[in-house]
Amino acid sequence: MLAMNYRGPGRVRIDHKPMPEIKHPEDAIVRVTRSCICGSDLHLYNGNVPDTRVGSTFGHEFIGVVEEIGPEVHKLKVGDQVLVPFNVACGKCHFCQQGMFGNCHESNPEATAVGGIFGYSHTAGGYDGGQAEFVRVPYANVGPTVIPPGMDPDDAVLLTDVVPTGYQAAEMGGIQPGDTVVVFGAGPVGIMAARCAWLFGAGRVIVFDQYEYRLEFVRNYAPCEAYNFKEIDDPVLFIKKMTDWMGADVCIDAVGAEAAGSALQTITGRKTLLQAGSATAMHWAINSVKKGGIISVVGVYGPTDNLIPIGNFMNKGLTMRGNQTSVKRLLPRLIEHVQNGVLNPRALITHRVPLEDVADAYHIFSEKLDNCIKPVLIP
Ligand code: NAD
Ligand code: ZN
Repeated sequence: MLAMNYRGPGRVRIDHKPMPEIKHPEDAIVRVTRSCICGSDLHLYNGNVPDTRVGSTFGHEFIGVVEEIGPEVHKLKVGDQVLVPFNVACGKCHFCQQGMFGNCHESNPEATAVGGIFGYSHTAGGYDGGQAEFVRVPYANVGPTVIPPGMDPDDAVLLTDVVPTGYQAAEMGGIQPGDTVVVFGAGPVGIMAARCAWLFGAGRVIVFDQYEYRLEFVRNYAPCEAYNFKEIDDPVLFIKKMTDWMGADVCIDAVGAEAAGSALQTITGRKTLLQAGSATAMHWAINSVKKGGIISVVGVYGPTDNLIPIGNFMNKGLTMRGNQTSVKRLLPRLIEHVQNGVLNPRALITHRVPLEDVADAYHIFSEKLDNCIKPVLIP
């Protein structure tokens, strides 16, 4: 089969790989029909996630058709069209039982933090991802969800990560009616977080990014106020002024390690993000949220980054919440929101690229070329 193949930082290509096989009675094999590239894949692509092995296939946002099932799979049948949450989750462990599917213990028993994730290095269990024609889906009774009849496949594929992650970002912010919510990052995740902030009763939503086309998009889509931080001397002061010197009630970090990297990029020529030692969005969030406010972190950082201005965090009495998204926990209500038009995720997809051209798609998305917001690969 054809599959994306990681060759080292900045290098991916399309290759022939062996067909995946059922390894466990609860496995399914899914024939992929759509597979997105995520901002999280860029951390892998840039070589900044430990134990990302050459030869691995990325891809944790995919939908497809069930091709084969193991003898203990009873929730799916061959031919079902499914959307597959990005978390690999057993459904039975201590964490899954609490709805923390992103922290499943069984699917990644050697890790202390994250659960299993498709196509996300050996730190997330070493599972092959879905940027391929076929993929093995473990615990097939738990994650895969039959796509409701009539749902647009572009909406379905965004329900595997972007929609739940944007929603969980807003949820973790504990937004109260009337709150001013600041979102750092207008990638797919930040855009969706801004839109979802309204569902929790935000009174005002303000987004920062550096790309005009993304700011323009989020202004219309969320809708919200959106500013280019490159045109602002001091975003913290700017936010204070906008909020009568109180600060925002909630700040959402939908950037992660990228901001940390920009400083070092010029030195090494590559985005060596996780060693950079400061994270702009994280600093801005802590310094511009009001005293007693909440920071919600969905941006991905390296496992042991130490980027928090802890003095200000402590002295301001802040609360910080973060996690990998528990997709399955949120799916029922989010499927409903998509079906009744409250959310319209497919509007984010700007690029439809044949799987064969995966290297081009990574380049375009990574460099933010051609007004790219979200690319989807079509095998
Ligand atoms: P993306 O790369 O498309 O978007 C990131 C955006 O942040 C870019 O538009 C960039 O210009 C902007 N940015 C960079 N520095 C900034 C700063 N200092 N202030 C404001 N904006 C800044 O990525 P995406 O797909 O939207 O993902 C965003 C983050 O969310 C990534 O770190 C990704 O790994 C993470 N993520 C987390 C989860 C989860 O489960 N927690 C799921 C999906 C993605
Ligand atoms: Zn993703």
